[in-house]
Amino acid sequence: MKSLIIVDVQNDFLPGGALEVSKGDEVISAINQLQREYDLVVATQDWHPNDHLSFGSQHPEHNLFDVIDLNGFAQKLWPNHCMQGTLGAALADTLDQHRIEAVFRKGLEKEIDSYSGFFDNGKRKVTGLHGYLQSRGVTEVHVCGLAADFCVFFTAMDALELRYRTAIISRATKAIDRGEFMNKKEQFVQKGGMLL
Ligand SMILES: [Zn+2]
Repeated sequence: MKSLIIVDVQNDFLPGGALEVSKGDEVISAINQLQREYDLVVATQDWHPNDHLSFGSQHPEHNLFDVIDLNGFAQKLWPNHCMQGTLGAALADTLDQHRIEAVFRKGLEKEIDSYSGFFDNGKRKVTGLHGYLQSRGVTEVHVCGLAADFCVFFTAMDALELRYRTAIISRATKAIDRGEFMNKKEQFVQKGGMLL
């Protein structure tokens, strides 16, 4: 059984949003069309408290996009984004949600970021996505959404680690930094991932 995982198609990651991914809106029509090809469609949603420590606003001594050590993990400092209950955190209006059976929220813990839809960055807590996919008999996952070089990539890498046959759907994702995504795509393929 094959599942589509739609990562973080939220207003803050679209053009005009707090952490916009250039042309991020262009993935939505591709994702809407793709959904009918899957037995199961699920989504993830970045969902931070206002004082999340991945926000540059919590570290006035640093600049945005600096990388700092946060509780032993390298943390890039982002603009405030996807704050719980805000319009920025909502899934995009234009995303067809009829076939999305479950949404897995991540990034709720102030102390640690969560790029992957499966675990936080320290792998201390699970989101429940793996258990859900297992309970539905899923053996293959295809990952799309935003942003390619962060949450899509880390979700796909964890899926491989969890022994799913895993693909990233290139036409249904966009990166914050395209060069960065090129490097990460190589890592993903080397680890056994497929690019569709
Ligand atoms: Zn975030």
